[in-house]
Amino acid sequence: MRGAVLHAPGDIRVEERADPKIIQPTDALIRLSATCVCGSDLWPYRGIESIEDPTPMGHEYVGIVEEVGNEVEHIKPGQFVVGSFWASDNTCEICSSGYQSACVNRVLMGTIGTQAEYARIPLADGTLVPTPEVPSNDMLPNFLAASDVLGTGWFAAVAAEVGPGKTVAVVGDGAVGLLGVLSAKLLGAERIIAMSRHDPRQKLALEFGATDIVEERGEEGVAQIKEMTNGLGAHSAIEAVGTQESMMQAIRSTRPGGHVGFVGVNHDVQLSGDEMFMSLVHLHGGPAPVRRFLPEHIKLISDGTIQPGKVFDLTLPLDQVAEGYRAMDEGKAIKTLLELS
Ligand SMILES: [Zn+2]
Repeated sequence: MRGAVLHAPGDIRVEERADPKIIQPTDALIRLSATCVCGSDLWPYRGIESIEDPTPMGHEYVGIVEEVGNEVEHIKPGQFVVGSFWASDNTCEICSSGYQSACVNRVLMGTIGTQAEYARIPLADGTLVPTPEVPSNDMLPNFLAASDVLGTGWFAAVAAEVGPGKTVAVVGDGAVGLLGVLSAKLLGAERIIAMSRHDPRQKLALEFGATDIVEERGEEGVAQIKEMTNGLGAHSAIEAVGTQESMMQAIRSTRPGGHVGFVGVNHDVQLSGDEMFMSLVHLHGGPAPVRRFLPEHIKLISDGTIQPGKVFDLTLPLDQVAEGYRAMDEGKAIKTLLELS
């Protein structure tokens, strides 16, 4: 099969990879209908995360089940399925508490590499959620967004305890931040402040439900949020970048007693104990348990309530994966969808 492989920073290629096979009796094999490039794929692409050997890439996926192992009971060949970037049994104590991304049997899909024509999905019964019917092609971006960025933005909003009457500051205008805005809107936030200085992203944020845009960053951004909230700060902040600056911007934009949901993959962020102690802010975040939200998100997408696929502003055939990474790296695309023929 054809699949994307990262050889060195900046060197991503589509090449022939071994066809995946059922290995465990709990596996399923899917033929991908579409896949995409994640903001987190840019960390190894930029050389900030190092790779030892040529590495298959990708962890977002939707597709048709081709084959299942003999212990798979609920997932059937022919179903269109969505799964998250952590395969999970969905039955252990951690899964049952809603934290499937820390399942005791979890498998990181990034180690499998779903920017490819086919993928083996471990723990198929726990990992995959079928849609009511096989969707039309124009719905594929929406379901694909549910595989990671929608669930991640949603988790950030839930972790930030977004709800009616609350003001939410959203730090980060990538796909996750933008879908954090959408999530905050659906969860009933009264005021949603998108922190973005890019015109097309501001427009999408407003379309998704942002009520205000703040272009300032860092301490100036924090000052702006304070000014808009009677000097108090937001009730909730969504952090969707993962840098020192964005974490501090989220924490300092939040009022005492407020909540920060942080889902940007952290890179060398250092928090001062003294500052945390004095802030009286709740922090919750990490790799999102996307699986927790998949049934609800599939329903909201199927009935047309939400269109999270709008975050894909570049669509390319899988063979042009290098262009897809480059466009995102240079900030020319929010998120690249890779089509499979
Ligand atoms: Zn589990």
